[in-house]
Amino acid sequence: MKDKIYICREFSETEELHSHSGIYPYRAVSERPSLNSRGEYSTPSISDDKTVDYARIAALGPERIFEEDIAENLYNNQDDIHHHADIGWYTDLYTGYVADEEKRLKSSSGGLATALLCHLLETGEVTGVIHMKASSEGPLFQYGVSRTVEEVQSGSRTRYYPGSLFDVINEVRDTPGKYAVVGIPPFISELRRLENLEPVLKKRITVHVGLVCAHQKTANYASYLAWQSGIDPDRMTSIDFRTKVSGHPANEYCTTIYYNDDDGNHCEKLVAQSDLRGTNWGHGMFKSYFYDFSDDAFNETADIVFGDAWLPEFVSDYRGTNISIVRSQYISSILDSMRRSGKISLKNLSETDLLLSQKSLVRQTRREFQYRLRIFKKNGWAIPLRYRAIRSDGNLTVQRKLIQHLRGRISRASNQLFPLAREKHSLLLYDIPMFPLVFAYKIVDKFGRFTKKYFA
Ligand SMILES: Cc1cc2nc3c(=O)[nH]c(=O)nc-3n(C[C@H](O)[C@H](O)[C@H](O)COP(=O)(O)OP(=O)(O)OC[C@H]3O[C@@H](n4cnc5c(N)ncnc54)[C@H](O)[C@@H]3O)c2cc1C
Repeated sequence: MKDKIYICREFSETEELHSHSGIYPYRAVSERPSLNSRGEYSTPSISDDKTVDYARIAALGPERIFEEDIAENLYNNQDDIHHHADIGWYTDLYTGYVADEEKRLKSSSGGLATALLCHLLETGEVTGVIHMKASSEGPLFQYGVSRTVEEVQSGSRTRYYPGSLFDVINEVRDTPGKYAVVGIPPFISELRRLENLEPVLKKRITVHVGLVCAHQKTANYASYLAWQSGIDPDRMTSIDFRTKVSGHPANEYCTTIYYNDDDGNHCEKLVAQSDLRGTNWGHGMFKSYFYDFSDDAFNETADIVFGDAWLPEFVSDYRGTNISIVRSQYISSILDSMRRSGKISLKNLSETDLLLSQKSLVRQTRREFQYRLRIFKKNGWAIPLRYRAIRSDGNLTVQRKLIQHLRGRISRASNQLFPLAREKHSLLLYDIPMFPLVFAYKIVDKFGRFTKKYFA
């Protein structure tokens, strides 16, 4: 039988199963994670004496404490707390948006995330905000610490892009203060586990703001959007994945690509999402491999979670609306004071409507999780050693099984083919082999919609 040290070392050497978050149980300044050709942060080599700690922290680590156990410990001891198997612990569920129209338009959903982060800084609840910001050199976006309201405000909007927390964690270790952090589910749960190993981080990171996340995209996603729009990815200077357009429903947003032309002029191009290949999130193009094993649908270990209100009554409003899950009474009282002072607008939301607003995400991360594991095992693809028992649907239709097979193929093929196409400077080397997979997905998906409409 393999011993613990062996299993942990094996895990630390299987990069496919890493979240690429830059969250490690050490400083390794000489070996900072950097973006590889797959558009993910590489993992610095983990020394033998740290493999067990790494396996305790990592989102899929064989020694990790599961998210539901961390969350129970954090939130279950509060009054008026509720629990739902998919949503996790919560005090309140809301839809809402920031009252200031200009700020709402500068956000991706309803702007509640930025409104809360600015309020925390203004009131001295925190001295720094750790979030993903535009970067002037290297990757298009990077995690950074904002210390003024203006900085936080200019860092609003969703980045479908990888980020490494490596440098900012070291900054937090070195700089006393109180911090709020924003992240996708695996990053927030990894941070929680690291905080349990390092009390100084636990003391300083006082607010964990979670984003709902269908899956993590590699940096090649942004490059693909630019390239197919006629822009050399190397000339792209930034991208707004979600530009709101008046008159369009909130879920039919555009993408703005910023780039330098041949003469060095700063230019921008607005493209409708529907005109861009690869933007159907169901396909899973450029999905980071580890995300197929993330069953944390609603960022269970975050104090507050923000997502999009993908419900008919809100989608028609192009300005965008959030859903929000509040897990901590401390944050609940802060939101209450923001509401009373007119900074934000909130409306109670039922569990049913919250789940309805994220129907596809819940199906992918929870209901079809076990079946996906079986496919990966059968194909000999790497799978995590341990996963928690979640309510999973054993009776998938043939159509749903095919969808899971095709998603796995599409995301793997996209991650393998795109670096090759870049190397050979030919987008066709990507688009041609991807076409049959995407075509097959569309047929199977259409068939599912048809049978649901006429036979369900
Ligand atoms: C990869 C990804 C997938 C997502 N998938 C879904 C989904 O399936 N369903 C859904 O409802 N919502 C999803 N979201 C969340 C959604 O897009 C919005 O980010 C969320 O609703 C907050 O909107 P807001 O208007 O309140 O945020 P804003 O006010 O625009 O502020 C967003 C804040 O988040 C920070 N930020 C942006 N991107 C990242 C990132 N990658 N990592 C860390 N911090 C970041 C920004 O710096 C900013 O501080 C996803 C987000 C990401 C990053």
